[in-house]
Amino acid sequence: MSWKKGKLVFANPEQVVLWNHEMAGQVSDGNWENSRPFDHWEDICGAEVSYSANPDDWGTQGFKPKRAYNFSSADLLEIVGDRALVAVQMAKAFPGISDKALDHSDQLVSKSDWDRLVEIAGRGDKYWVEMLDTLKTEIGLDDYEDIKFKLNDTLYDWADMVIDLRQMSEIIRKSFKGESQTTGKYSSPAIEKPKTNPLENRDILKSYDSDIEPGRKYYIVRNDDGELECTCPKGKLNQRCTHLDRFNKEREGIKETLQEKIKKLA
Ligand SMILES: [Zn+2]
Repeated sequence: MSWKKGKLVFANPEQVVLWNHEMAGQVSDGNWENSRPFDHWEDICGAEVSYSANPDDWGTQGFKPKRAYNFSSADLLEIVGDRALVAVQMAKAFPGISDKALDHSDQLVSKSDWDRLVEIAGRGDKYWVEMLDTLKTEIGLDDYEDIKFKLNDTLYDWADMVIDLRQMSEIIRKSFKGESQTTGKYSSPAIEKPKTNPLENRDILKSYDSDIEPGRKYYIVRNDDGELECTCPKGKLNQRCTHLDRFNKEREGIKETLQEKIKKLA
């Protein structure tokens, strides 16, 4: 079999990071590992990846994708979304950072991930010592709060990532179907950020402090259909978020306490 390396062209550098540091691995060994056809991943994962501002360039060259992939599915992002987001934020916050450091993005998702890395590296295991060294050296910071501040300062958030992932899926799907790429910046009305104040005329049931952005608050609100929503980036995309989970759990707790009190009274 003669094998020539093809090309895969996305729309921006963020998409290249999302592909190289998360989605290529999901296609070959993760989420789509056992998908059909069995060799679907070979050409696309072996392709040379780049980006172009010209929609005519988007898609694959030298091969045709063997299937389509939904990179923005809530199930997948529940598992890989946080670290994929951090990988893009790292690439934006620390220009020139190596692929090796970007592959360690899961260590920077939360303070506890970082603390765990520091603790394990402190025991002297070579693999973890090297990982911590790589990150500290390349980022030039060793205080987690400073690192997180730099990452948040990129202003690239969950909603931006979902828009990029949808566009990546669309670029590959169009190549697979043999359709031409849409000209202009891809946008889907469903994922445009709300232009109106989401709190206007809404019942605010509870507020939560953002874990990553000091001073930022997210609100659990009741929407026009009477359903509960969270105003955080995930919530805006109708995806499950920790705030709504926490709110439901707390509400469940209140219900149980009331039931116990009623039982005691009876
Ligand atoms: Zn939320």
